[in-house]
Amino acid sequence: MNCTRCNVELIESIEPIDTSFRGEQLSIEGIRHLRCPQCGEIEIPADELASYSEKLKQAYRDKTDMLLPEDIRALRTRYGLRQKEFERVIGVSFPTCSRWESGTSIPSLPANKLMQEAIENPPTMRRLMKRAGLSPQKKKGSIVALPPRSHADQS
Ligand SMILES: [Zn+2]
Repeated sequence: MNCTRCNVELIESIEPIDTSFRGEQLSIEGIRHLRCPQCGEIEIPADELASYSEKLKQAYRDKTDMLLPEDIRALRTRYGLRQKEFERVIGVSFPTCSRWESGTSIPSLPANKLMQEAIENPPTMRRLMKRAGLSPQKKKGSIVALPPRSHADQS
């Protein structure tokens, strides 16, 4: 296989792949690929693409202190919110929340920051919910009640 730009034969490589993702410079290790010795153009074989994209997301999460899908779900369920309600609270469109929780998409940096703030600071979350027209399930005082669990735990 030749480089589409230089028409030089690509060579197999397992060196880290330097790339930028959403403005962050990342180095992805352990991906078998073909590399042009002249221009550095990289060709990732189809069977490595899934693992490359996983590693890319993980490297981005590490670098930006990104919440994990389970963190986001935990925040949402802690306040008894449905996905649509949570989207209103954070200010994102449908079906962003389910994509975040399944890991198919990664929150934007501002959304991530907002959710981190909401996790660390319950009054912030309550204020956001109020602004979205949702009343936090309050029990005397300011403690937010967890949604009741049925004995057949469906979580
Ligand atoms: Zn080339």
